[in-house]
Amino acid sequence: MKTLEQKKLTFSICRKISQIPPEVWNKLSDPAIFGFNRSFLQALEDSSLYEEDPYYLIFHTNGKDLAGLAVAYTLTMDFSHFDRDHPESVYKVLNQWYPGIMQIKVLECGFLTALGKGFHRSGGEPHTFMTNLTRALEELALDNGADIILVRDVPESAAEQMREMKKRGFLPLRGYPLAVLDLHWGSFEEYYDTLKPGRRKEFRKKLRKLDTYGMEVRLLTRWDHYIPQLLEQWNEVESRSDYHHEKLTAPYFARLQDTPGTDSFILGLFEKEKLLGFSLIHETPEELFCSYVGLDYEYSQSRNSYFILNLKILEEGFRRGKERINLGITSYDFKQLMGCRLIPQTYYVKSWRDPETTRGIQKYLEDSIPRTITSHSSFKEVAYPGTDLEKEASSPSPEPSRPDPFERLYSFSRSHILKFLNLYTFFPEFESAQTPEVFYKGRRILMMGSNSYRGLAARKEVRDAAREAISRYGTGCSGSPLLNGTLDIHQKLAGALAEYTGKEDALLYSTGYQANLGALSTLAKPGVVVLMDERCHASLIDGVLLSRARLIRYKHTDMASLEKKLREHRGSSLLIVTDSLFSMEGTTVPLKKLVSLKEEYHARLMIDESHAIGVIGPRGAGLAAREGLSERIDVLMGTFSKSLAAQGGFIASDNSLIATLKHESRGHIFSASLAPPLIGAVSKALEIIGREEEQRLILIQNTAYMADSLASLGYEVTRSEGAIIPLYCRDELLTFALYRKLFDRGVFVNPVVSPAVPKGSELLRITLMATHTRQEIDKALQVFREVKTDNFPQNEKEKNER
Ligand code: PMP
Repeated sequence: MKTLEQKKLTFSICRKISQIPPEVWNKLSDPAIFGFNRSFLQALEDSSLYEEDPYYLIFHTNGKDLAGLAVAYTLTMDFSHFDRDHPESVYKVLNQWYPGIMQIKVLECGFLTALGKGFHRSGGEPHTFMTNLTRALEELALDNGADIILVRDVPESAAEQMREMKKRGFLPLRGYPLAVLDLHWGSFEEYYDTLKPGRRKEFRKKLRKLDTYGMEVRLLTRWDHYIPQLLEQWNEVESRSDYHHEKLTAPYFARLQDTPGTDSFILGLFEKEKLLGFSLIHETPEELFCSYVGLDYEYSQSRNSYFILNLKILEEGFRRGKERINLGITSYDFKQLMGCRLIPQTYYVKSWRDPETTRGIQKYLEDSIPRTITSHSSFKEVAYPGTDLEKEASSPSPEPSRPDPFERLYSFSRSHILKFLNLYTFFPEFESAQTPEVFYKGRRILMMGSNSYRGLAARKEVRDAAREAISRYGTGCSGSPLLNGTLDIHQKLAGALAEYTGKEDALLYSTGYQANLGALSTLAKPGVVVLMDERCHASLIDGVLLSRARLIRYKHTDMASLEKKLREHRGSSLLIVTDSLFSMEGTTVPLKKLVSLKEEYHARLMIDESHAIGVIGPRGAGLAAREGLSERIDVLMGTFSKSLAAQGGFIASDNSLIATLKHESRGHIFSASLAPPLIGAVSKALEIIGREEEQRLILIQNTAYMADSLASLGYEVTRSEGAIIPLYCRDELLTFALYRKLFDRGVFVNPVVSPAVPKGSELLRITLMATHTRQEIDKALQVFREVKTDNFPQNEKEKNER
């Protein structure tokens, strides 16, 4: 016997129904609450369907007065069944990499193979009972190593009681509603008469199949002979449904018929001696409850087996004088055709493995429960309405939404499933500089996800330059460049960047993001049409949004698509914006064609060279410089956070445009100028890049070598002109799983998912630095070789089949 501190409530645990004292059972087993009698539960227990014996929790106040009863059991759920976002092959790979990763142990308060609330309070204070029930479930979860606690089938009327659970971090979700038909009518015939004529005709036509095929429905109280067929037909239904909760077994069917008093029977649809389908039904004084249906799908369509079986349950309900028939969960559309109403059920869930991920689990489970949005009216009079399914579908979530501006933020759950599965990857904390090898929790990791392409962020000369700048100018400028914040070194760097990019002048911003935001919000204005590549960097999009100009996207690097849009908007004030080398895919824009289109259509053109600078073209001056097109491009943009080894950004253009930006660009004026050490570092990095051309060539060669080697291992990679190798996983979960696998083996690369890339284009972004050695690259390749599984990377044939 366990004593809980809370208000002297105690609970004892029975693992067998036979251990529950009869007086307790008699007092607490109202079929209206649990829906099941002792014999049924006994049969269930004896059929070994439970992975382990269930827990019957009996609560007493002060050690003597009965306070309530609860039933809980553990089951292992395959999480992948709830998730339709990923193909089967992804789960295969995940299971190979991390055996058992999708097997989730659930402590469930409820019944197996049955529906109904899993707890009942018989007296005393609700608050105390619920608090203690919650604690008891948590204790059981702890003892059993459960990952999730799920309280199932709580009727809406019990919502108030559930407050205590919510306080302990349980969250409600809309569960499967129960489809119930109240038998308002005196007989089946009366029911039939109230149906709309069209519906009646349809029903009659379906029922006529009984005669056409010489079928009949038989009521079975013994079914030894049919057990293999019952199982087979149930499995057919189960495998097609969304609900993969229970695996019925032969002993289950055997025990149900052999245990006296289970009040269960089967309606079987027969064609001669062949069983075509069945309904397993449990009887209580008030209702017939159909827990399982099995169908032989070969015949079900032509014979209307499902329809016939359900109508026969209804007939049987009338014959036995029941108040209602309960057709359980799923196939709501059909059940509503019969006139069923849906009784909402709420589940409460808590992630026990990591309570902070509860919201994600809640959402995951809720999303796995399909919502029916059709609405049928079956009766002539609205006095017998089926529940309006549309209303049910659109009814608010169990938790009414409060007008809280932060609601969305507190509901953020996107990362929860990954955290729950231990695949969360973001914000790893490194303990060293961006060098080919970095430290993570004291471990050496090959860094293949840095944008310090030229490897200068850790170079001594660059560090020294930053230090020297601090010695002379201090750590910060403490003001806007327009006022006190401009130093001679800012001006010198701007001049060097203008010369480097082949433009007349340049302007510095605190980050690359801010450069795009600050420039575009000034360059474009309402009335301007901005044509932008669909994969452009977020900062470019945000800049246009801030400008309130009209934003139109064209297909990625597709000049025909661009021209189409230009033609459509000919005569407007046009600005074309694109990255030169795309950050995630590593693709480059066909610049010559782009420039000629810009000129033909009298548009302006802005190019973001963030990933090209330091990597592409002579002296790494970017794609525009390599193509000799700098002068014909109106605005060039670059960042200091990649090859230039520090932080900040710049815009390069002609004198007049820069002069206007200097005075009007809010991102420039209303933000303090870049700190001296950054200017020192960038100036030095620029100087080094300008003189060390061979390092750039090594980087290009190494990138090509690595991309080709990965391709020969079977990975889907594309060659880039820059230092970026996209390795396509084409699935979010797979991307994170591969990331994790590589990281665990000492290789860091970047997982890239939506919105950085479109869904279906998820990838690992591998980037090299000029300072990586062949030896390091080979070491990483060896890891890529080792983590290959039978299912990933897919071979060409399988890929084409997807
Ligand atoms: N443009 C592009 C194409 C980028 O990839 C990035 C950075 N990822 C930026 C702009 C923003 O640069 P920063 O990191 O310096 O803010």
